[in-house]
Amino acid sequence: MSNDNTVDGQDHSPTIPSDAEYEAEQAEYEAEQLETEFLAVISHELRSPLAAIKGYAATLRRHGHKLGRAEREEFLQAIDEASDRLEVMISRLLDLSRLESGALQADLIPVDALQLVREAVSAAEHRWSQGAPAVGACLFIPPEQRSVPLVLADLRLLREALDIILENAVKYSPSGGTIHVTIQSDDTMLTIHVRDHGIGISPDHLLRIFNRFYQVDTRLARDVEGAGVGLAICKRIMALHGGEIWAESELGVGSTFVVALPIVDRR
Ligand code: ADP
Repeated sequence: MSNDNTVDGQDHSPTIPSDAEYEAEQAEYEAEQLETEFLAVISHELRSPLAAIKGYAATLRRHGHKLGRAEREEFLQAIDEASDRLEVMISRLLDLSRLESGALQADLIPVDALQLVREAVSAAEHRWSQGAPAVGACLFIPPEQRSVPLVLADLRLLREALDIILENAVKYSPSGGTIHVTIQSDDTMLTIHVRDHGIGISPDHLLRIFNRFYQVDTRLARDVEGAGVGLAICKRIMALHGGEIWAESELGVGSTFVVALPIVDRR
């Protein structure tokens, strides 16, 4: 039998994709998979606080008169917390979409990063102290760090990035874990380091965690909240600052997330 695939003088041999074409197809397939998983995860993440709000509100309406003051207070607090979770989730999704479309721009002004880090840390400590004891963690800023050079930053956006990194450090840390926050600087850049002793990230995942919707473990049953948008937001926020974000990690040992920002030119 002939192997000649020419018909009418034209070659009709089956085309074998090149390595680059194969990789592009594979990347497209993975992106589609991520989006499908994201829709399932985000529906779950939006539904669970909503279910809590509906459940507590319905109980208060029907049986509020039979509940004691402390119990009523507890239910109202649960509604308040679930509403906060929904609000954060929705505003992060909006921010990601506005960052990706270019609609969100940074308003860069000279900022005292130490002050901002202190505020983010104390807000985070306040949130954890109200939550389940399982997320207890303490933070440490070396006392000798009294002042640092000013950076050019958008206050709201930089604070959002810090909130996300601190939140993750707690989420992926064991009960009672310690999180260290330190700041270093050289002539041009200031770096903020958030180090946890949590579950860590393996090298293959480390390359992808800054991609939108990427989660190391997407099982809906996992017991931490999140939709895989936090670090994608951080990456875009840092790009708007002319800065960078990266992570170093060892599985089972812990992770350090580093944010680098340009220092205000003092000349
Ligand atoms: P999520 O909302 O799922 O936390 P993120 O974009 O913030 O999404 O993070 C992406 C993934 O990176 C997480 O799902 C988690 O698997 C991993 N990750 C982020 N921060 C940490 C950390 N401090 N320790 C271990 N894993 C982390």
